[in-house]
Amino acid sequence: MDTALAKAWVAAAADAVSAEAEHLSRLDAAIGDGDHGTNMDRGLTGARTAVDGLEADGPGPVLVKTGMTMISRVGGASGPLYGTLLRTAGKRLEGTEAGVADLAAALRAGLEAVQKMGAAKPGDKTLVDALYPAVEALEKAAGQGTPLSEAAEAAAAAAEQGAQATVPLQARKGRASYLGERSIGHEDPGAASSALLMRALAGVSG
Ligand code: ADP
Ligand code: MG
Ligand code: MG
Repeated sequence: MDTALAKAWVAAAADAVSAEAEHLSRLDAAIGDGDHGTNMDRGLTGARTAVDGLEADGPGPVLVKTGMTMISRVGGASGPLYGTLLRTAGKRLEGTEAGVADLAAALRAGLEAVQKMGAAKPGDKTLVDALYPAVEALEKAAGQGTPLSEAAEAAAAAAEQGAQATVPLQARKGRASYLGERSIGHEDPGAASSALLMRALAGVSG
């Protein structure tokens, strides 16, 4: 991944979230306050503009800028969480190009920072349920020397499966946890948006 590919990822993620904003907000209306789609749309639309004119000599600063924009433009839980994910990951990416192993290590660091911030483990019905298997898939692909296009495809599939697997779970973190057992039977909106982000990466890497 070079600077251009990182920028293309942000733009594709913004497009995907924009197209799915209503759906994401509907998921959030069922177990939260109904703003996840507008939150993510605002954050990523802002990030796309911010990175568009950014002079960066590698993917790291693009992800850092995206994370900073998410933090500043998105109130609510998801802004600081996604902001931390991308800022931490971006800081780990040095140099003009990142391979699959670099990306896997960077996103692992980002995920660890997210888990530290939100105290969520896999199975708590949060965005961690999509990101965790996606990072695992990237790590596995890195170990096998898989090219980025295939690695990102595996990560996207893992994230989508992880998001779907949140449906029968009871939320233990975030707003949805206030519902107790009534959170069961709905897909977690943050897991759904994380799957969109990984699918966007696969789309631009292919
Ligand atoms: P808010 O709940 O403040 O309205 P959003 O609706 O934008 O924020 O985001 C909600 C999503 O944030 C949830 O679906 C969940 O995936 C994620 N989330 C909330 N709390 C946590 C947490 N402690 N750890 C990880 N993810 C969380
Ligand atoms: Mg919400
Ligand atoms: Mg909110």
